[in-house]
Amino acid sequence: MRVNKNFDNLVPNYLFAEVAKRTNDFIAKNPDKKVIKLGIGDVTLPLAPVVVEAMKKGAEELGVKETFKGYPEYEGYDFVRQAVSDYYKSFGVDVNADEVFISDGAKSDCGNIGDIFSADNAVMVTDPVYPVYVDSNIMAGRKIVYADSNESNGFAAMPPEDVKADIIYLCSPNNPTGSAYTYDQLVKWVEYAKKNDAVILYDAAYEAFISENIPRSIYAVEGAKECAIEMCSLSKTAGFTGTRCGYTIVPKTLERDGHNIYSIWYRRQATKFNGVSWPVQCAAAAVFSEEGQKQIKENLEYYKENARIISSAMDELGIYYTGGKNSPYIWLKCPNGMGSWEFFDFLLEKANVVGTPGEGFGKNGAGYFRLTSFGDRDNTIEAVERIKKVIGKK
Ligand SMILES: *Cc1c(COP(=O)(O)O)cnc(C)c1O
Repeated sequence: MRVNKNFDNLVPNYLFAEVAKRTNDFIAKNPDKKVIKLGIGDVTLPLAPVVVEAMKKGAEELGVKETFKGYPEYEGYDFVRQAVSDYYKSFGVDVNADEVFISDGAKSDCGNIGDIFSADNAVMVTDPVYPVYVDSNIMAGRKIVYADSNESNGFAAMPPEDVKADIIYLCSPNNPTGSAYTYDQLVKWVEYAKKNDAVILYDAAYEAFISENIPRSIYAVEGAKECAIEMCSLSKTAGFTGTRCGYTIVPKTLERDGHNIYSIWYRRQATKFNGVSWPVQCAAAAVFSEEGQKQIKENLEYYKENARIISSAMDELGIYYTGGKNSPYIWLKCPNGMGSWEFFDFLLEKANVVGTPGEGFGKNGAGYFRLTSFGDRDNTIEAVERIKKVIGKK
């Protein structure tokens, strides 16, 4: 027996463990201090009432012979796929219900999609990056190449002229940098993918946070259906991080290397995935209902207001940052030339506020820091007041 040696090539991910360790040490030494966590990447508000009702009804149906359901279809129930298609239509993007695969979330799909690509493809990710894209491809033995996000491009990496890639992960609005691509920027990525005969894997997990007039989907760009797969999730949109439901769109017009990508992804799902449970698919459909959309907007507005509160403090302090407008993340430059971990310790000790050091997301994250708007309103306001006090006006 031999294990997959590619696992030896993974860089140990200390980020969240180290954040937790330093935070817990501080709390143990300072039991009287109230520590506020603005590092969390998880939602905190409960599911919308219509969603809970739909899930309950779905569960009850499973307990009655006439309405009992066995294995669901691999690609999801038609009414849920249609709901996703109608949702795209609501912001002017044409996606057919039969191109939608309902799944247990975007993280699994971002990793699983690698099953259909050979190991000798070069994978491009942006730096800083959501670690799942890197680690899942290292496990598969693929080479990783980077497109830099930095201050000169507003932490929204553009295609590098001189680097070739076969598979390109894009995340917009971005985790961790909060930047979001404009239409023109997405056009450049689509052109680059076509020139390289590459496939874009577009992670739209934060599309519901978009408030400016920018694309909610890569398919807003003409020709994207010939080069892109899109993953999305109800995790951040509707608080499904614990409920688990997402969707992946594979256009039937996407062909590569003499193969129809939809067909091979279908075959992969049919082999390794037995679908999403009935109550959860009922809950997902409820998110897309008229009442569901109204109710989830209340939670989204709550987080967006937190983001606005944090961003305006950065504006007041004259600190460079990206995000906060179309994203729950505020990615800021550590003041006074501090390093990411140096600023982490400074904020924890002086303001008793926890954030996430940017260098945990890649080399370009050094000297940067991520705050999130998923916290409680009063805590966010208090944290921001404390940050303003310890950093001071310039
Ligand atoms: C939270 C998040 C997701 C969602 O993952 P799920 O598995 O659907 O919960 C996907 N991509 C990014 C970049 C995220 O931050």
